[in-house]
Amino acid sequence: MPSLRFKVVDEAFNRKADPVEIPSESPEKYFGKLVFNRQRMFEYLPAATFEALTSAIDNKQLLPREVADSVAEGLKKWAIDNGARHYTHWFQPLTESTAEKHDSFIEHDGKGGVVEKFNGKLLVQQEPDASSFPNGGIRNTFEARGYSAWDISSPAFILGGTLCIPTVFISYTGESLDYKTPLLRALNSVDRAATAVARYFNPEVNHVRSYLGWEQEYFLVDESLYSARPDLMLTGRTLMGHESAKNQQLEDHYFGSIPSRVEAFMLDLEIECHKLGIPAKTRHNEVAPNQFELAPIFEETNLANDHNLLLMSLMTEVARRHHFRVLLHEKPFAGINGSGKHNNWSLGTDTGTLLFAPGKTPKENLQFITFTVNVMNAVHRHNALLKASIASATNAHRLGANEAPPAIISIFTGTELAKILDHIANSTDDELENLSQKEEINVGVSQIPEIILDATDRNRTSPFAFTGNRFEFRAVGSSANCASAMIALNAAVAQQLDEFHAKVESRIAAGETLRHALLQEIRALIRESAPIHFDGNGYSDEWKAEAERRGLDCETSVPLIFDAYLRPDTIEMFKSTGVFNEVELQARNEVKWEMYTKKIQIEARVLGDLAINHIVPVATRYQSMLLDKVAKIRDIFPTEKAADLSAADIEAIEGIAAHIKAIQTETAEMIEARRVANRIDSEREKAIAYHDTVVPRMESIRDNIDKLELMVDNEIWPLPKYRELLFIR
Ligand code: ADP
Ligand code: MG
Repeated sequence: MPSLRFKVVDEAFNRKADPVEIPSESPEKYFGKLVFNRQRMFEYLPAATFEALTSAIDNKQLLPREVADSVAEGLKKWAIDNGARHYTHWFQPLTESTAEKHDSFIEHDGKGGVVEKFNGKLLVQQEPDASSFPNGGIRNTFEARGYSAWDISSPAFILGGTLCIPTVFISYTGESLDYKTPLLRALNSVDRAATAVARYFNPEVNHVRSYLGWEQEYFLVDESLYSARPDLMLTGRTLMGHESAKNQQLEDHYFGSIPSRVEAFMLDLEIECHKLGIPAKTRHNEVAPNQFELAPIFEETNLANDHNLLLMSLMTEVARRHHFRVLLHEKPFAGINGSGKHNNWSLGTDTGTLLFAPGKTPKENLQFITFTVNVMNAVHRHNALLKASIASATNAHRLGANEAPPAIISIFTGTELAKILDHIANSTDDELENLSQKEEINVGVSQIPEIILDATDRNRTSPFAFTGNRFEFRAVGSSANCASAMIALNAAVAQQLDEFHAKVESRIAAGETLRHALLQEIRALIRESAPIHFDGNGYSDEWKAEAERRGLDCETSVPLIFDAYLRPDTIEMFKSTGVFNEVELQARNEVKWEMYTKKIQIEARVLGDLAINHIVPVATRYQSMLLDKVAKIRDIFPTEKAADLSAADIEAIEGIAAHIKAIQTETAEMIEARRVANRIDSEREKAIAYHDTVVPRMESIRDNIDKLELMVDNEIWPLPKYRELLFIR
């Protein structure tokens, strides 16, 4: 009897592209249609309320309570006009997705009927039950109260008939229980620190903004195939599956033409994005078969991050409409490229200057160099932390593998920038002056723009690359909340800029010129941060050895990588920037370790079940078929002839028997390893035990299953194979 697999393969193979409902208006008209942006605020709010709200947003102030009621009134009217019947505080708990608690606008009117009600109090603050979200022990269950409070810097939007209000999520005692709170703190901190330094170059600067442009990679799998893979359904990745004979060797998928079913999905998704104000811009095939990417135009980091989280929900939803499932997991398939989410990051002043972009004048270039070397130094000092900020059970499959950024953070600058830094480090002020035009401040490298913009050569092996006017943090995982990386990066840079500013100030106080003070500090930073600079091949073994010599963090075990959050220098950095206190850091690490354990635990259970009740029975069936055949050969043929004719079958029978035995014993050992680990109290130690004792067994069970896949009759193999998952669309 052919397996279910053939039925689902057939279904998937014959599926046609689904139609897409294309709005009759132009994208300009429907862009942001479902967002309570300034235009809607203007339309729906009384003039005084509009003024108060926009000024609170612009000046990062709290919204006065009286105004909140009036905002709520206008917001409710707009939401109802646009088909919303419910509202929710939309927040980012530490589970790496978003959470919503929907309430309808309806309230009793006291006369037996209902009214649609929504006031300032409901808009500004709610109390979701904090005990049902990870909190690392900050909340005791008896005071399980968490507050969600409106983040006015991110506009409300309507998703699926619900008004969503972006909020922070904090505990009764004020500790953050989410990603948004510390992100906002880090952004404020880098604003303050960078503004002080940017004023050396332009006294008009009042704010520095952090920008983020993410590039979201993902896989699509037909829903029928997906539903026949319990591992995909329950863990987001395939826990078994032999490599397909063809995968990405021919590199014929990357930037190739987009298959029509996928194109319909992408178009639909893009329209939804635009309605929600997400400036989706590029879409293309990625390196691996059935892997794709979507990137928007960059935005301010807080909004960009909300948009990325919103996008991930949208993708999941829109994919279903097209009979696909979207895989956001970092490594859904072994042996081919995983998915990342490059975080293109920059700082820019409110006067319109991008601080990592080389300018036209020597003065602008001194500013560019100042900010660039400060970033390099921050990344160097906190390389272990930055790695911890992107580490997770799922991203672990990418890091260190031969196709993704290595598990060592380094910075790629490109040869031109490297030469310039070298030149500055090794020249006197006068030598630099002689090379340049006469300007009050300059570094004598007025030729920077042309050179660097021409030299945006891409080193794909680098986890952190300078790319012309920004840095690209490429180690971020596809399923991650970018905030984790953005909190660590912006805070580390804020601390570094604070210290830089203090040093320059004391030089000036001691009588040095600004130019000399800046150049001296820049030279010191270039020397100090030298070990983080690496333009070579990040995948090579030589680099691992070299990085170790340079003192960079080379830890590969995720539970141990998390320790970086609790190093004294990390605690100090987060404290001085006001981003996290020690209690928060400890609590968040508890959550990280717990999440790590839970993910591996679920995978191990699924793998054990599949191994024992899907794979072993089928392999046994095939083995019996072979045994039958050998017995029949022996019945019919004389002994010697029979031995000759059945030799290969006997070998196969033995091979299958060996794999089955290995699967059975190792599954039993894996279960025992879990039992032992589960008894450990400390979340850290438990996660380490899962990493050291459960994961290796999972790998070896998988290995045996994958070997069986090549041996067992294709007709009875139960799970869709890699070639089916990856090439049917
Ligand atoms: P790539 O060649 O890496 O795909 P793209 O030009 O497509 O590069 O840009 C990738 C992302 O980087 C986009 O989201 C883009 O908006 C963003 N980006 C461009 N410039 C900046 C910047 N200065 N700061 C932050 N993000 C930026
Ligand atoms: Mg890129």
